[in-house]
Amino acid sequence: MTLFVDQIDAYKDVILFRGNYDIANALIRPMNLQYRARETDLPFEMTVGSRTLIQSLDPKGEQVFPRYQSLASIPKVSLNDTRHDILVIVLYIERKPRKFVTTMNKESFVRDLIVINRSTDQPVKVCALNDLSGSQCETLFSDGDNFKVIGITALCSVSRKGFLLESTISTIIVQDPEGEKAAALTEWARKHRTVMTDQQNRVTASWNPFAGRILTTINRIKAKKATTTLPQEIYWLRVVASDIQYDRLRTYIGCSYCGKRTQLPLGTIYNCTACDKKEIIATHRATITMTFSDATGALQLTAFTKSCLPLFRLSAEEIYHMKAMDDTARFRRIAYRLSTTYFLIKIGPTTTLEHNQVL
Ligand SMILES: [Zn+2]
Repeated sequence: MTLFVDQIDAYKDVILFRGNYDIANALIRPMNLQYRARETDLPFEMTVGSRTLIQSLDPKGEQVFPRYQSLASIPKVSLNDTRHDILVIVLYIERKPRKFVTTMNKESFVRDLIVINRSTDQPVKVCALNDLSGSQCETLFSDGDNFKVIGITALCSVSRKGFLLESTISTIIVQDPEGEKAAALTEWARKHRTVMTDQQNRVTASWNPFAGRILTTINRIKAKKATTTLPQEIYWLRVVASDIQYDRLRTYIGCSYCGKRTQLPLGTIYNCTACDKKEIIATHRATITMTFSDATGALQLTAFTKSCLPLFRLSAEEIYHMKAMDDTARFRRIAYRLSTTYFLIKIGPTTTLEHNQVL
C-alpha cells in the first residue's frame, strides 16, 4: 500500500502495524518494480483515494502493537517473516552511520546499537538502517547515571554472520515506552546500575578497538568462558608457529567474499549461493592449519586467505602458484621463518559464539 505526502501523517493513527483492516474502494494497479522491497512481494500497489474506506477489524481497545518480547526469546534462526518488538537498554551506539552497498546495489546507511535487557547477559547488536540510523539514534544513549529504556519495533533477526537484529521499513523507535513491562525494566536497571555500568564499559571497549592492541597470552585465551566473552573482543598474541605442513596448505578457486569453493574459472563474475552476494569474483583462495605457541601454551588455528597473506608474505595468487608448481623449497623457507621468528596474530571468537554461546 502506498501513501503519498500528507497522507502519511493523516493515516498514521488510522493504520497500525499488525492491525487487520477491511479496505474498500482503493485503486490497485501494477507496481513500478523498483519500489518492490523483495523479489517475492506481489507486483501490485494499492493507492488510497478520497472514496477509500478503511475499517479496523481489531476489537476496540485491544493493543495490537507493540508486543514486546524478551531478547532471550527471539529464535536464533530467523523464521522467514517474523518481526520482533523489544524493550531494551542501549549500552552503546556507533558514533556515525556507516555507508554500505546492498546486494541489490543500492547505497544504504547503517548504525550499530548494542542493547540488553534483563533476559540475557549477552548484549545483542541491532542494526538501524537508513532513516533510523541518523538523528533518531543520537538521543538513545544511556549514561552511567540513568539507563534509559526504549522500545524498538518490527525488527527481523539475521543469522548470516552471527546473530543480530535488523530494522525493517516498519521499525519505530519508541523513546518513552508505556506499560508495565517498561516500568519494570526501568526499575530493574535502576537497581542493577553497577552491573549495567560494567556491561557498558565492556561493550564500549570492545567496540572501540582503540589505537592500543590488547596483548595477551594463550593460557589466558584458553581460560575465557563463552558467557563472559563478547563477539567483538579482539586480542593479540605474540607467537611462533609449529607443525607447519605442506599437505595442510589448501589452495583453490572460490568466492571473493566468503571463500566458498567454485568450479568456475578464475576471474568469472557470478552470484555466490553460499553467501548470497551478487557479482562476486572467482578468485584465488588458501587455507592452512598450524599450531601457534607462546611461553604459556599452544593453540591450533586455521588461517584463511586474508590471514595467509601476511603469514606467507605472498599474494593469494603467489600462494596458489607455489602449490600448483609444487614449490616445496619455497614453502620450507616460509615455514622456517614462521617457526623461528616471533610475530603477532590477532584472534577473536568465531561466529558460533553468537549462534550457540560456544567459543
Ligand atoms: Zn560467497
